[in-house]
Amino acid sequence: MGDVNLEHVTKRYADVTAVDDMNLDIADGEFVTLVGPSGCGKSTTLETIAGLTMPSDGTITIAGEEVTDKPPKDRNIAMVFQNIALFPHMDVHDNMSFGLRIRDFPGDEIDRRVRDAAEILQIEELLDREPSELSGGQRQRVAIGRAIVRDPEVFLMDEPLANLDAKLRVHMRTELQRLHKELETTIIYVTHDQAEAMTMSDRIAVINNGQLQQIAPPLVCYNEPANRFVAGFIGSPSMNFAEGELTASGFASDAFSVEFDPSTVGLESGRRVSLGVRPEDVYPAAQADELDAPTDPVAVRTDVLEPMGDEIFVYLLVDGADLGDEESADELLMSVEPDSDIAGDTDIEVVFDRSKLHLFDADTGEALAHGVDAATAQAEPRSESEVSD
Ligand code: ADP
Repeated sequence: MGDVNLEHVTKRYADVTAVDDMNLDIADGEFVTLVGPSGCGKSTTLETIAGLTMPSDGTITIAGEEVTDKPPKDRNIAMVFQNIALFPHMDVHDNMSFGLRIRDFPGDEIDRRVRDAAEILQIEELLDREPSELSGGQRQRVAIGRAIVRDPEVFLMDEPLANLDAKLRVHMRTELQRLHKELETTIIYVTHDQAEAMTMSDRIAVINNGQLQQIAPPLVCYNEPANRFVAGFIGSPSMNFAEGELTASGFASDAFSVEFDPSTVGLESGRRVSLGVRPEDVYPAAQADELDAPTDPVAVRTDVLEPMGDEIFVYLLVDGADLGDEESADELLMSVEPDSDIAGDTDIEVVFDRSKLHLFDADTGEALAHGVDAATAQAEPRSESEVSD
């Protein structure tokens, strides 16, 4: 059974803590992706599981057996790396079977395993070719084949698609999913590409500064990010953030406010918060009636438009705003339908979908609420004239 368990795993180098108190519980047969920015500790985490790096602290268990101090050969794992090192003067069959031959597997068993793996990977007709006669994608398949023939409990894959061109990478994503379905083996996969993580995994483990931020199914990370880091990292283009404060009547920043009763999401006024909204949850005010719970309109000026084919990204300038993102202090990104007649350099109003608003603590980044109610705490008392109308 290929379950993998990391308890308080830490890896310190001289002046850097690459992995910081990592706890992971990966079930047998699960496809878990470690994702995060470059240098966050993904590869080091994977290498500790592989036995290529010894952790400074913590324990690692594979298939119920503690392997913390065991060398890679005594862990039932197989690795696939970004740099595929195939033996140039061996044909595909010999490349795939090399690991089995040095372990003295019987010839007919080797042949059976290589042919089974080649069939799964649809490379049967390539078995006699040398690596120089293969495309990048074919070479990558051979590298995966070499891992499959070992019949490991766990596959460890470190950016295996990073060297492929964009189209092939997308194709190989679906191949890997198909492979996982067929083999039902645990896969722990490392990538810095959040789209790759979102599309393939049962769960993704988002890492930053060596620390696990959240481990959850992709859509949970997307819809209910545990903190501002996850919210900003998962999803492309990134979530918009606005810095502000909770008041008795909702969220207020220099640029705009959103009315709601903080107590309905268990919060008190006076707290400094970041409000997060994804580009697809920002709408032109003209579309407000399509939403169950739109916010009040916010005045903005459209800036640059980016037509993507299936949607248009619209950069919005928000007057007087410091929206908190250092790169674009007063910018908000909106995604609209491709047939929208929206124009650049125009004053418009936008609304947000309340159910898709996120609140984060301004200091810790911890998520405080996902979705805010339309009910306001202190409904303005209606004036005499309104009542008589
Ligand atoms: P990622 O895979 O997320 O890009 P790594 O796990 O490779 O990140 O690295 C995490 C951190 O540990 C980085 O700051 C990196 O420079 C550092 N690091 C990795 N390996 C070593 C090493 N052998 N010696 C010193 N520092 C290392």
